[in-house]
Amino acid sequence: MLLFTPGPTPVPANVREAMSKETIHHRTPEFEAIFANARAKLFELFGTDEVVMLASTGTGAMEACVTNLCHKTLLNVNAGKFGERFGKIAKAHGLGNVELQYDWDTPANVEDVVKAVEANPDIDAVAVQISESAGGLRHPVEAIAKAVKAIRSDIMVIADGITAVGVEKIDVSDIDALIAGSQKALMLPPGLAIVGLSDAAVSKIGDGKGYYFNLASEIKKQRQNTTAYTAATTLVIGLLEMLETIEAKGGYDKLYEESAKRAEGVRAALEAIGLHVYPKSPATSMTTIDDVNAKEIRDLLKNKYGVNVAGGQDHLKGKIFRINQMGLIEDYEMAWVLNSVELALEELGRRAFDGTANRVYVESKCK
Ligand SMILES: *Cc1c(COP(=O)(O)O)cnc(C)c1O
Repeated sequence: MLLFTPGPTPVPANVREAMSKETIHHRTPEFEAIFANARAKLFELFGTDEVVMLASTGTGAMEACVTNLCHKTLLNVNAGKFGERFGKIAKAHGLGNVELQYDWDTPANVEDVVKAVEANPDIDAVAVQISESAGGLRHPVEAIAKAVKAIRSDIMVIADGITAVGVEKIDVSDIDALIAGSQKALMLPPGLAIVGLSDAAVSKIGDGKGYYFNLASEIKKQRQNTTAYTAATTLVIGLLEMLETIEAKGGYDKLYEESAKRAEGVRAALEAIGLHVYPKSPATSMTTIDDVNAKEIRDLLKNKYGVNVAGGQDHLKGKIFRINQMGLIEDYEMAWVLNSVELALEELGRRAFDGTANRVYVESKCK
């Protein structure tokens, strides 16, 4: 089965092999060297002043950022499941919460954020997804961050980049926390989260908040190439192998360029066979199609063509499907997926198969 969900993504064979070695102890020079190496490469990927790895899924990092960087009121953008989660985290910790809600196909409006921040002096952190995976939506995070900093420069900007880091170059000039998760663009099994932090964020963290997710404890240890608690050794070994693989394939800029071309090609291909792209500002990480036959198409892909794409949640259940574009993806695999979608449309009596989707994809990709 081809795994084409926007997380988890498939783990390359060499990365799986690297992780299949015997477990090594985390408090050893051997592991610390691997950790140091992975950490150095993460600085390059994130472009932030500090980087910490956490043994948790992405949500753990979201929680750590909220608790350590927000002391009063969190403003969060909710245009989907993951945006909603930031508000729930704030409430679960007894923090104040202001939420800006949008339809799942609609990017946040910078002016709305400005108005909300100006209206409430207690807002000391703003949290937003770069790519909201619920609908495959790209929020204007850079513009939001810039506008927020222009109002009160000490407001912490938390950017959930779980489906953006490793997909596109993120301008971190006005971002204080940039979050990534292992099982999305980094093509690793779930269980490792990474946070890039600005110097301002490190200052605000001070002695940190909480216990396991106390970022101060982790920063202190990770600067010495170790972790506060048992490191997720296997995943860190996999991460190093993955980052080396990206390097060997031409580096991050090449990866971003390939991902952008793939995204453009897939959108063009699916539109060429009459499908509709759901979000008004599509993210590079995935293409989301809304369609009356979304469920049937997804079932045909899975049961007949061996392709696993994601569906929708909540009110979008059975109404959309989402195709992954993150990571190192071979064109022939993408071509298989697009051919399968076009064949599914033929089977549903929608249009005769003539290879349009694949042709448009290849033409677009090779432009
Ligand atoms: C997957 C995802 C998360 C949640 O990550 P988990 O690893 O499932 O905890 C958060 N935000 C975005 C944008 C995601 O795509």
